[in-house]
Amino acid sequence: MEFLMAKFGKSSMIKLQTCHPKLQELFHDVIQYIDCSIICGHRGEAEQQAAFEMGTSRAQFGESKHNLVPSMAVDAVPYPLNWGDKDSFVYFAGVVLGIARAKGIKIKWGGDWNMNHNLKDQSLFDLPHFELME
Ligand SMILES: [Zn+2]
Repeated sequence: MEFLMAKFGKSSMIKLQTCHPKLQELFHDVIQYIDCSIICGHRGEAEQQAAFEMGTSRAQFGESKHNLVPSMAVDAVPYPLNWGDKDSFVYFAGVVLGIARAKGIKIKWGGDWNMNHNLKDQSLFDLPHFELME
């Protein structure tokens, strides 16, 4: 059996490097199993304001775990990216959560904020969003 080992592109690497070391470690493992891109790590004030105005974030600057240094949140998407394919995000999140669990890294996923494994009780879906619970 032959594996095509995926690796992060330059843009993903730069964003991942702004994240907490545990998130970096986690996603370097994740990409060994499933190809993905990092679309956001740390968000500074201007970026947070832009995300708020675009409606991609409900948080004002200082309220999001993306605003911390290092970032306690990361937005990661399965590759190839298709925003209309919700199943691909749910599948990807399952892989991420499973690997995090195995590594003893406690994270929360934006598709299941209360982490009760029920995706029907969410008021906000932020499917690419993973954050450290600490
Ligand atoms: Zn996020």
